[in-house]
Amino acid sequence: MSYIHPFHVCCKYGRIETAKWILQLYNNSPNLQKINMHDQNDIYFKDCYKNYNWTTIKWLYELCRDTPEYGPIDIHSDNEHLFRIVCYKNNLEMAQWVYNLHLTDPNVGKIDIHAKDDEAFRTACRRNTSAIAKWLASIEPTYSVTIIEGSVCDWNIKDIVMDFVSRPTDERYENALKWLNLTQTHQLENLQTCTVCHEPHERIIKLECDHFICLEKGYNIFRSITKKCSYCQKSFDWSKCSSCVYEGKKESDICMIDL
Ligand SMILES: [Zn+2]
Ligand SMILES: [Zn+2]
Repeated sequence: MSYIHPFHVCCKYGRIETAKWILQLYNNSPNLQKINMHDQNDIYFKDCYKNYNWTTIKWLYELCRDTPEYGPIDIHSDNEHLFRIVCYKNNLEMAQWVYNLHLTDPNVGKIDIHAKDDEAFRTACRRNTSAIAKWLASIEPTYSVTIIEGSVCDWNIKDIVMDFVSRPTDERYENALKWLNLTQTHQLENLQTCTVCHEPHERIIKLECDHFICLEKGYNIFRSITKKCSYCQKSFDWSKCSSCVYEGKKESDICMIDL
């Protein structure tokens, strides 16, 4: 698949005015092919952020959002690459802009702050970009950072699910579900077996594809790059999965002959 070279160069090097002119030219001229904003898997947008042209990113994003024939840009592509880059470049204003896009744009989902094994937070702490580290810790309860005189002295990522696995209590289970953004609950008629560890669990997670997985094994999927059911390989959204509870057979369900 090809792309429009002059338009690409303008986006990549932040020449917005010239990019606008080229766009007009290509879209209005009968002899030129119209520019497809999603050429080569959003190359115009991606090369913009790979070159840190933040103003051009905003312009391209808004242009695609507001022009139905272009269609929205996927700002989450390559495992939240845009978000990870703006954090890496220590641009707090831009990081907050990306992070809050879902509040105003129904086509944008929430940023996965944990993308690539919490890369944004880990990098901010390691590179001592304290403003980013402090902000990330303020929005994510599992992150903590100690900053003294503008420098990162200590930081930590609390593992809520491992917390539960090491000492399973009801409260820790509930916290882990909340953390995974699992809000739907469901009562089970029968005890279900985890499709990964093959053990029955009274508390189990039902994925979007209707397959069951226990919290501990589900968490491995959560941390992996491709969030897919290990049984049927379908990708899923945690907010569409439900937490299921089996509370044992009710007395009325027990067959009288067994008694
Ligand atoms: Zn299991
Ligand atoms: Zn499945």
